[in-house]
Amino acid sequence: MIELKSQVPDGPLAEKWTAHKAHIKVVSPANKKKLDIIVIGTGLGGASAAATLGELGYNVKIFCISDSPRRAHSIAAQGGINAAKNYQNDNDSIYRLFYDTIKGGDYRSREANVYRLAEVSNNIIDQCVAQGVPFARDYGGLLDNRSFGGAQVSRTFYARGQTGQQLLLGAYAALNRQVAKGKVQSFPRHEMLDLVVINGEAKGIIARDLTTGEIKRFGAHAVVLATGGYGNAYFLSTNAMNSNGSAAMQCYRKGACFANPCFAQIHPTCIPVHGDQQSKLTLMSESLRNDGRIWVPKNMDDVIAIRKGTKKPSDIPEKDRDYYLERRYPAFGNLVPRDVASRAAKERCDAGYGVNEQGLAVFLDFKTCMEQKGKAYIEEKYGNLFQMYEEINDVDPYKEPMMIFPAIHYTMGGLWVDYNLQTTIPGLYAIGEANFSDHGGNRLGASALMQGLADGYFILPYTIGDYLAKKIQEPKVNTDAPEFEQAEKNIKAKIDKLFSIKGKRTVDSIHKELGHIMWEYVGMARNEAGLKKAIEEIRALKKEFWSNVYVAGDNSVFNQELEKALRVADFLEIGELMAIDALNRNESCGGHFREEMQTEEGETKRDDVNYMYVSAWEYKGENQEPELHKEPLEFKYCTVATRNYKD
Ligand SMILES: Cc1cc2nc3c(=O)[nH]c(=O)nc-3n(C[C@H](O)[C@H](O)[C@H](O)COP(=O)(O)OP(=O)(O)OC[C@H]3O[C@@H](n4cnc5c(N)ncnc54)[C@H](O)[C@@H]3O)c2cc1C
Repeated sequence: MIELKSQVPDGPLAEKWTAHKAHIKVVSPANKKKLDIIVIGTGLGGASAAATLGELGYNVKIFCISDSPRRAHSIAAQGGINAAKNYQNDNDSIYRLFYDTIKGGDYRSREANVYRLAEVSNNIIDQCVAQGVPFARDYGGLLDNRSFGGAQVSRTFYARGQTGQQLLLGAYAALNRQVAKGKVQSFPRHEMLDLVVINGEAKGIIARDLTTGEIKRFGAHAVVLATGGYGNAYFLSTNAMNSNGSAAMQCYRKGACFANPCFAQIHPTCIPVHGDQQSKLTLMSESLRNDGRIWVPKNMDDVIAIRKGTKKPSDIPEKDRDYYLERRYPAFGNLVPRDVASRAAKERCDAGYGVNEQGLAVFLDFKTCMEQKGKAYIEEKYGNLFQMYEEINDVDPYKEPMMIFPAIHYTMGGLWVDYNLQTTIPGLYAIGEANFSDHGGNRLGASALMQGLADGYFILPYTIGDYLAKKIQEPKVNTDAPEFEQAEKNIKAKIDKLFSIKGKRTVDSIHKELGHIMWEYVGMARNEAGLKKAIEEIRALKKEFWSNVYVAGDNSVFNQELEKALRVADFLEIGELMAIDALNRNESCGGHFREEMQTEEGETKRDDVNYMYVSAWEYKGENQEPELHKEPLEFKYCTVATRNYKD
């Protein structure tokens, strides 16, 4: 019987973390040497955790799918990382960052976790600067900031449009230092395929060597999951092609609750879908909304002329442009949070004002900025993003506005964790995008990098000690134990089954079909009938997959078809769980928009009486309905209100 215990310490909000650290157990240096930790994932969450745990003296093994740890999806992050330094003297503070994050997440996250995140945000910047991360600086040499959605201050630190890459290089260098010292052993191209649980505690993993197909066992005193988000359940997303939710699902099947699976973020500024053969979407960073203005024409004649190509967007005079975000949300304008901006774009396109052939695009325009600040300013701030846009679209965004449209980008849901970042399986921790912890129903821009690095550098290294202190007399895990034997057998049987089907459908065609169902019914707008349909269709597709998929090749070689098949099998499960969760949550909050629950102006309508909780789903077996556990949310330090970005 699972009981959700958040483990939030008592005491005033601002003192909780300090008091907690002072009271939890620590492991002495002599004992750390005896303890083994497995970290899955080398993005900002995993790399920072493994480097720190190695530095502390634990024996760490780190795993990733890519050929090098520094190719993790985190490298794609463009815009920046938040911290409450108040360098701009614009009245930022830890409280303001905490409050913006709680409000941005539509009051569906845990106050204590979010406050701690804001509190340690400043340490992250110091740590990264010390590592040599080349953050942008102002004329006087101080670190520069820009603004991201949902905030009225400038608190986003950045390295042009490559913030994730630079931060990951910093973490990777710290990781390599530990690899050289022998404290971290790195296993690139090794994919975790199952979690091994012994006597109710996480004790290791089964992994597949992706180059040889060998199935291997690894034991440890604790396992840390840092495997990123599951946005690729939608097939098309801004995520890296390798991003997947399989490791989280393996843990879910072994007893870790999955929290808020339906909370998926739709990012408003992506390059629109071009056609049916596309396998990836490209993000245009939110940072562009600092200087870019979003609009569609006011007049339908202009919309039609633009679609036909008889008019260029730059031909439309100012008076005939509808800067709809500035019109609807004067206080935040183009910097409203992502869920709000995405829905507003959809509203304009649904009303017929979409500006590309399919009617599914709006403009992001730098005309005003060019006039006021000039090309050199734009080049310096966003040069690589402009170049990327031109390469993909063959349109010069210095001359004509970019076309953008919302797309799946991030998943706020993930494994349920307590204040210590421990899942419902003792000894199993989840950090970064893989957990559900800090963003509620909608993540604010530049807060994912902050959370991943907070978890990895500053939170987990403390809290894991509290658990490991009880394990100092436990010998190394014996990987000959029957639980390892059984897990390995199950994996081999699953792989054999996939090769044996020899059906007519490619893995990709099934993934794409799932993506269509997800986008249509579990996408930007959801309703009861659609969600029920999605569940039915996904269940049918699951049957189709397990009876008619074709996986080419065999297990003894580098086989990306097999890799994909294993991941798509899990995406089908995740998709179903997302729809079940979305159906249960009969309210609109953040990115979860139930059409039945909206205001007259089309804004989200929460139901705080019935849904002020984290939904944590427990796996009950194949083809069984999962069981819902509720973690009630309490707000003592901020007033729960309807989100207002108008004034
Ligand atoms: C285009 C883009 C731009 C973004 N820009 C920003 C930004 O400017 N600011 C911001 O705050 N956020 C941004 N984000 C979000 C942010 O990048 C991610 O949320 C964050 O990087 C996730 O980090 P992570 O460490 O949790 O996981 P990831 O970086 O996704 O890393 C996951 C790791 O797990 C490994 N892995 C996965 N499954 C397995 C398995 N079964 N076995 C072994 N290894 C496995 C992978 O190989 C990888 O190493 C952006 C996201 C995108 C898509």
